[in-house]
This record gives sequence, C-alpha cells and structure tokens, in this order.
Amino acid sequence: MRVVFLGAPGVGKGTQADRIAAQHKVVKISTGDVLREAVRNQTALGREAKGFMDQGKLVPDSVVIGLVRDKLGEPGCENGFILDGFPRTVPQAEELGKVLTSKQLKLDRVVNFQVSREAIINRLSGRRSCPKCQATFHVNFAPSKTGSTCDRCGETLVRRSDDQRGAIETRLKVYEEQTAPLIQYYRERKLLSELDGSGAVEEVFEKLSHTLAPYKVA
Ligand code: AMP
Repeated sequence: MRVVFLGAPGVGKGTQADRIAAQHKVVKISTGDVLREAVRNQTALGREAKGFMDQGKLVPDSVVIGLVRDKLGEPGCENGFILDGFPRTVPQAEELGKVLTSKQLKLDRVVNFQVSREAIINRLSGRRSCPKCQATFHVNFAPSKTGSTCDRCGETLVRRSDDQRGAIETRLKVYEEQTAPLIQYYRERKLLSELDGSGAVEEVFEKLSHTLAPYKVA
C-alpha cells in the first residue's frame, strides 16, 4: 500500500492515516508532524519552518522534499506508506514521482478527502492537540476524558497556533491556490479516488477501508 491522502486542512486525513497505518502495518509519514517535532526540538529545520507554520503558510518545497526523501529511505517503508499532508504543491508531486521512480516504486492511490468549508472551520477551531504524542481531540465531537489532558499520554492539550482563526483562513486559501491543483494532477494520472470525509470518524473509516481494500498488505 503506497498511498497519498490529499485534502484541505481539517478534513481528517491525519486521523484516518493513523487508523489505516495501524490496521495495515504501514508507515504514516506526516510532514506536519515531522515539522512540528522539529519546531519543538528547536532544530535547524524547526527554526526554518516555524514562521511559515505559525502563519499557516507552506514551508518551502526544497525543505519538505528533502525531509520526505529521507523518511522514504528509512527502514519500514518497504511494506508501504501513507503520505499525510504531502505533496501539497505540483513541484512536490513531481519530486515525489522522481524519488519513487528511482526506487522502482509507484503510488497505488491518491485519496481526496472532501469536507465543506464550514465543517472544516468547525473542526479546526475546536481541535485540541497533544504536543507530546500528536493525538488530537475535539472540544465537542471527540473531547478527551478530562477535557484538558491527553487520554493517551497525560500531557496538557493545546490549541495549535495555526488552528487560530486567522491562520485557518490563510491555510484554506493556500490550499485552494497551491494544493487543490493536485486533484487534477492525480486525476489525469488515473490515481485519484474521491472520499466524502464529512461523517463521523468510524463512518469515514469504513468508506476509506473499502477504497483501499485492493491494496491490502498480506
Ligand atoms: P498539517 O499538520 O499537515 O496541517 O501541516 C501543518 C503545517 O506544516 C502547514 O500549514 C505547513 O506550514 C507545514 N507543512 C506540512 N506539510 C507541508 C508540505 N507538504 N509542504 C509545505 N508545508 C507543509
């Protein structure tokens, strides 16, 4: 299973990627998670990325492409991978194609998650995230047991800086301008599957499992 999860921020790609990765025992590569960890650890990568991320803008292509190339070279990726949040621009998609070709691999499927703008804003503004283990909750739809700490590791939950209203607007605009063209890009390559991501997590998971059934790892 070598798949890309495509869609605007807040459509539920990350949540579903965690579940599919666990079910199929494949690696999930989330560029957002890797970048947030780098920011937390104040590495050179993190220092370079932070300003872009806080504003809801994209980190430069050269930075994320290098990062994904490294990740795809790590052990574990031979069984398959889910790319969550990458590619986000046409140049990133082209580079991904080149990296995979050099490894004599190809993508099986690109799943495009669709959710209305209103629902996305609701999801993102109510999202609470664990800065330690990356688990996510929602103040109304999926609250943590205590309301303020992570069910998985106990850390205090935070509202991501880019889940504030202004940054959400920027992220949606950036998505429309720079990422949405990938829908056509992958449709032309006959790799695209559309997915209605508007229902409950379980419901979307059912539909997604069906879409990905042909690519099951034995
Ligand atoms: P995410 O968690 O996927 O919503 O990503 C959070 C932020 O990380 C984005 O708003 C960007 O600033 C940055 N980021 C994540 N993935 C990429 C990517 N493929 N290209 C550029 N920036 C990215």
